[in-house]
Amino acid sequence: MGGMNRKPLMVGNWKMHGAHLEAIQRVQKLSYLLDPGDYDRVDVAVAPPFTSLRSVQTVIEMDRLPILIAAQNMHWEEAGAYTGEISAPMLAKLSVSYVIAGHSERRRLFGEDDRTVNRKVKAALSAGLTPIAAVGETIEQREAGEAARVLRGQISGALARIPTEDIPRLVVAYEPVWAIGTGRHADPSDAQETASALRESIRKRHGNAADRVRILYGGSINPGNAAALMAKRDIDGGLVGGASLDPHTFASCVRYWK
Ligand code: PEP
Repeated sequence: MGGMNRKPLMVGNWKMHGAHLEAIQRVQKLSYLLDPGDYDRVDVAVAPPFTSLRSVQTVIEMDRLPILIAAQNMHWEEAGAYTGEISAPMLAKLSVSYVIAGHSERRRLFGEDDRTVNRKVKAALSAGLTPIAAVGETIEQREAGEAARVLRGQISGALARIPTEDIPRLVVAYEPVWAIGTGRHADPSDAQETASALRESIRKRHGNAADRVRILYGGSINPGNAAALMAKRDIDGGLVGGASLDPHTFASCVRYWK
């Protein structure tokens, strides 16, 4: 678990699953499964589809739940002629705390690149949201021995021209593409090595602010492997896809030490 007093963060990425009534039920069930001690130990967030954000916000506020809201994506402009897009200030008005930028599905299927990720990271920060900048190598890159180089490029691209004073607010998600939705998670020691390398590449530019950045691991996290991954020094939480759809399995991931 994250050293240097970094509070772990567990984010459930629901992807494009479920309408708002299901989202409400999922959050309520999750809240029945977690107790105050869990929230003291881990920041818990859910990332519903856009159409469920307002409903999830309402449940959280009405029931005063300490669950944080994340968005899966957004546009980098504040407003304008961008049909179909959602801006950071719109998310902020819905009490959204986090926004994922550059999830590998967005990179692969929707053409996001380091430049657009960087724009989103900056826009999120200016709206008071915490960006979760996602990076990760493909299996081809890994097998060609290029993972470290690719990740350095992605992290420096994502964080380009971000002032050092904003760095402590950042969250980075290391999600090897070959581990997402495949049931094949990274070996915890490999994930630790990569998380540490990512932190060092942030340190090169931003010094000790790098120690405040939370680095999450994502890729086939489940209740059976969460503890071993979270035990690693530079891994400060998880981004959980498939296993976050069922409140029981997500709650077990949140309570990984139990
Ligand atoms: C993800 O969507 O970020 C993810 C890690 O998915 P899964 O847990 O299903 O691999």
